[in-house]
Amino acid sequence: MNHKTAVVTGGAGFVPSHLIDLLLADGLRVIALDNFVTGHARNLAHLQDNPNFTFIEQDVSIPFSIEEPVDYVFHMASPASPIDYVQIPIETLKAGSYATHNALDLALQKGATFLVASTSEVYGDPEIHPQPETYWGNVNSIGVRSCYDEAKRYAEAATMAYHRAHGLDTKIVRIFNTYGPRMRLDDGRVVPAFIGQALRGEPMTVFGDGSQTRSFCYVSDLVAGIWKLAQSEYHLPVNCGNPHEMTIRQFAEAVSRHFEIPLVLDEKPLPPDDPKVRKPDIRLAKELLGWEPVVAFDDGIRETIAYFRNFVS
Ligand code: UDP
Repeated sequence: MNHKTAVVTGGAGFVPSHLIDLLLADGLRVIALDNFVTGHARNLAHLQDNPNFTFIEQDVSIPFSIEEPVDYVFHMASPASPIDYVQIPIETLKAGSYATHNALDLALQKGATFLVASTSEVYGDPEIHPQPETYWGNVNSIGVRSCYDEAKRYAEAATMAYHRAHGLDTKIVRIFNTYGPRMRLDDGRVVPAFIGQALRGEPMTVFGDGSQTRSFCYVSDLVAGIWKLAQSEYHLPVNCGNPHEMTIRQFAEAVSRHFEIPLVLDEKPLPPDDPKVRKPDIRLAKELLGWEPVVAFDDGIRETIAYFRNFVS
């Protein structure tokens, strides 16, 4: 048993709530913070009576303190879907900047290990494919996605600065597209969007011609990688994602196959700066952590569809 304590910012969010489940299962105590801007209390409802779990309602972009000793700080708080961060760009910038400083300061004060959730968005619309950690990216600093992309790039810079200036034990995970239960049906991302549309008998809204690619990682695989990284000695960024790449049209076809319904698409304009391709190079995570995704796409999608059925009558 591991009797350590972890603080997880953004704990009521999709990915962090799964990370919390994994940490608790490994014997840690967990203190989760969230202000419910994009997270939801139902993602943590099953932990209500767990003596190893504490929830604090807190906007982490405002300074906060924790009374007890802390061994790990996971800074996961941030809007993460394109429609969310375009609607609340200032909150998104603060989650990457002020909130990152607050979480870093907590780790420094406690002598804790710090891990920040970064993103494949730091690569922008990539000119190198697949994307290795050594690629510096192609981000439009004033585009609609910049509130997220640049905030996460800043969060990485702040993390490296604390590591270099204070010797803080820091980790940076670059998370690629992830899916699974506890995503919000209305968060606008392609996985809940297409599944929700299929459940409601609506056409699937493909942006552009659907030839852009993404590589989808099931959430249990992702959080296993994050936890391994947190326990490693490595300080530079590490990609975590599933290299199984497909076009958005192929993803729509897969959803229609699972639902056994004809493929009906509604083509909408491609949003500005929408990356044309995305696929993680995960050689580093494999070598360093012995980690790679194990959940097959069809199995993960089946679980995700089963979850979303509870929300559409
Ligand atoms: N997308 C789409 N229809 C939707 C939502 C998204 O075609 O209803 C496309 C979007 O343009 C992008 C891809 O699906 O190319 C993945 O979008 P998502 O918002 O899930 O995440 P992103 O990888 O862009 O952050």
